[in-house]
Amino acid sequence: MFLSKYKTESFTGYILLTENLQVQEFSGQVNQMLRKDHLDLNIDFNLIIGSLKRKLHYFFENEVLPAIKKKAIRHLTFNRKKSVLSVSITPLSSGETIISLEEYAQGDRYSDLSWPEKMKEVLIRVNPNLEISYVSQNFSSYFGEKSSLVVSSSLVDNQLFKDNTNFIISLINKVFEHKKQISEDILLVGEQKKNWWNVLLIPEPDPRNHKDSVLIILKDIHYQKIIEEKFIESEQRYEMAMEAADLGIWDYKVDTEETFYSRKWKAILGYYPDEITESFDVWQSLLHPDDKDRMIVFINNFLTSDLRIYEAEFRMRHKNGNYVWIRSRAIAMRDENGKVVRLFGTHRDITEVKKSENEYKKLHQAIMQSPISVVITDKDGYIEFFNPAFCKITGWKDQEIIGKKPSILKSGFQPASFYEKLWKTISSGNEWQGEFKNRKKNGEYYWELASISPIKNSFGTITHYVKIAENISYLKKIEKDLKKAKQDAEIANNYKNHFLANMSHEIRTPINTIIGFSELIKNENLPSQKRNKYSGIIEENSQSLLRLIDDIIDVAKIEANELKIKKEACSLDELFAEFEMTYSNFIKRKQKMNLELNFQIPDEAHHDVIFTDPYRLKQIINNLFVNALKYTERGHIEVGYSIINDSKLEFFVSDTGPGIPANQLKTIFKRFNYVEETTNPNSTGSGLGLSICKDLALLLGGDITVKSVEGKGSIFTLILPYDKIKIPLVKAAPKPTAPARYNFNGTTIMIAEDTPYNYEYLYSILQKTGASIIWAKDGIDVLKHFKNSKVDIILMDIQLPEINGYEATAQIRKSHPDLPIIAQTAYAMAEDRQKCLEAGCNEVLVKPIRMDDVLTTVAKYLNK
Ligand code: ADP
Repeated sequence: MFLSKYKTESFTGYILLTENLQVQEFSGQVNQMLRKDHLDLNIDFNLIIGSLKRKLHYFFENEVLPAIKKKAIRHLTFNRKKSVLSVSITPLSSGETIISLEEYAQGDRYSDLSWPEKMKEVLIRVNPNLEISYVSQNFSSYFGEKSSLVVSSSLVDNQLFKDNTNFIISLINKVFEHKKQISEDILLVGEQKKNWWNVLLIPEPDPRNHKDSVLIILKDIHYQKIIEEKFIESEQRYEMAMEAADLGIWDYKVDTEETFYSRKWKAILGYYPDEITESFDVWQSLLHPDDKDRMIVFINNFLTSDLRIYEAEFRMRHKNGNYVWIRSRAIAMRDENGKVVRLFGTHRDITEVKKSENEYKKLHQAIMQSPISVVITDKDGYIEFFNPAFCKITGWKDQEIIGKKPSILKSGFQPASFYEKLWKTISSGNEWQGEFKNRKKNGEYYWELASISPIKNSFGTITHYVKIAENISYLKKIEKDLKKAKQDAEIANNYKNHFLANMSHEIRTPINTIIGFSELIKNENLPSQKRNKYSGIIEENSQSLLRLIDDIIDVAKIEANELKIKKEACSLDELFAEFEMTYSNFIKRKQKMNLELNFQIPDEAHHDVIFTDPYRLKQIINNLFVNALKYTERGHIEVGYSIINDSKLEFFVSDTGPGIPANQLKTIFKRFNYVEETTNPNSTGSGLGLSICKDLALLLGGDITVKSVEGKGSIFTLILPYDKIKIPLVKAAPKPTAPARYNFNGTTIMIAEDTPYNYEYLYSILQKTGASIIWAKDGIDVLKHFKNSKVDIILMDIQLPEINGYEATAQIRKSHPDLPIIAQTAYAMAEDRQKCLEAGCNEVLVKPIRMDDVLTTVAKYLNK
């Protein structure tokens, strides 16, 4: 099927005529040379001549025909328009005649040759003794020996056919024996050259004279042979190339449906050559069901188009049942109407390509959808690829990036040496990992964690670099926040440690004094003056302990947003009269001889009664005063207020103490603050006071600030709203001072208390009033005694064993709604108080309870 038509330089052929000029045999391209479509056997040669065109007719009738009739060996030429027809007439001894014809293109090298040389066929006649009886004139031009020397010599002796002599002799013998012509191709190897010859041996029987002979017509076919060899070689090369290219070949003739599949075509599908029939249907039947319809439509479209090249991909079933991906390419041969007459194409197994294509697609998709930025640069660092995440993170647009370098992201944060080190690492073939602080297109900074690695080709040369980076700005922020939180926690921890140490100190110091002096007071012989002094010390220390607990409770309340402000009318005159009395006593008691106390109250007339929480206002000023007193040894302390304007009042406490270091002024109002002991040796305390003052000032609608100069002193300023109220100030009833005034004779008081000391304390206060006392040690006791005795009032501890105070109160309330029940509790929070009231208590006394408070409260309910 791949036979291509090769061209020779000339046409050759011969006609064998019988004695009566009938065509017995013809060969080659005689018909072309005579320009005749049909040359029939047994036709009269005269008829052929008759049908030849004018000039040729003339040549044959006047030149060729007489030569044949004369039985003379003749060589004739006929010049045509573009070619020369050479005719050689060789009469055979049998009476037959061979007309050898050869046509050359005009002007080719043959036209320069003399006639015998032009003749390509050499004729040699041999008799049964293998003696040469005749050679044609051109013999010597081909064989180099004179014809006269060869004639009459034996083929055995003259070795005309060299190595082929024996073979030729055997052929001659065969022809003599069977009287049939034989044709063979032989290669005659001479000293200088090799030549291919076609040897036609024609029997020349001579029954009359018994002089049989064999005519050997030697035709030079060297050129054709070489072309043929070349063709075979090229055919083989083509086959090998197809094999090497891994291509299966197919050929389909559309009209006849004649189909060819090469060995490789079948091997791709796992079949041996004889296992598969070569038909179009086979291809169709092996198509994947999902590809079949598509391919049939595709082929029909192709056949009706005017396209030359056909290319398609589809799956075909392999012998093992799996499907193989095939890429089919073909070229179409179309007739003059454009109809495809033949398709010739190849099959390539692209299953692996498809697999890696799919893998590539998956990877590509993963990279395109990844939130991690991927950039590929060439070896010089110019960007060749980037994914959408890169644009999203950096803010650079697609068309702006290609051809740029990643240095567009440089923020200037990393030094040049950083990038030098990076390049050194990657250009020596290693991976670099690290963090960049980069800049987006809009100038915003961001952090990324990146890995940059080289991509090498199969020779190990770096061709590209790939950078994979994650935006870790949020991690950096978390890291920063964590660092800050850690620092804060460390500071808080330091504060806490300092606070605990201070607390321990603040609690132990008064307790130590209380315990110590309580011990001393036991001495019966102690003079009453000393006893009074000692009990004063014990009380003072108990008060400071109580203040500390109050502070802690205040802080807890502030933190829980529980501290409630109770605003009421408050006289500034009275407030400052109280301050004067209290603070003078304080200073006296502290025995600070070099300290002067001054008060500064506005001289001009002003509205005196304001609407505020007097208890909390006093708490702030007291705190500031206590601090001033604590730290100031000499000079003066000034306490006062002034009217700033119609809506603002300013209170202040100033001193000439050590002052506060500037760097600590910022935190002085913070919770658990403390000033380094090295700078302020007197600085002990819980560190709560000023923070409470600040919170209270804010709750009162004002603020507190400080100014201080180290070594000179400090001034604390409290600004409050000047809320003037018109209502007259209700003076509090003067507090009863002497306990002896109370007389509860004839009444029964129940003290519900599980702690004997607490009971003892209350008993010793109330017993002096003449009341009968009942002691209930737990909740069950309370209910039992209450049932059995007449009780006028109950002092109810809340945390009682068995049945707690709330429950006991609730039970009693059911039958005695009007009985006064006073809760006494160490729970000081607002909700505890509320709980007591809800359980049915009339009033709540928070421990420690002062004697005065016990007596006034009981008196209030007993109406005494
Ligand atoms: P504390 O209850 O421990 O006194 P404060 O909050 O009242 O705590 O005070 C905090 C710190 O401020 C004190 O430990 C002290 O170092 C400093 N301070 C407060 N008032 C004065 C003052 N008048 N003169 C010097 N230092 C002061």
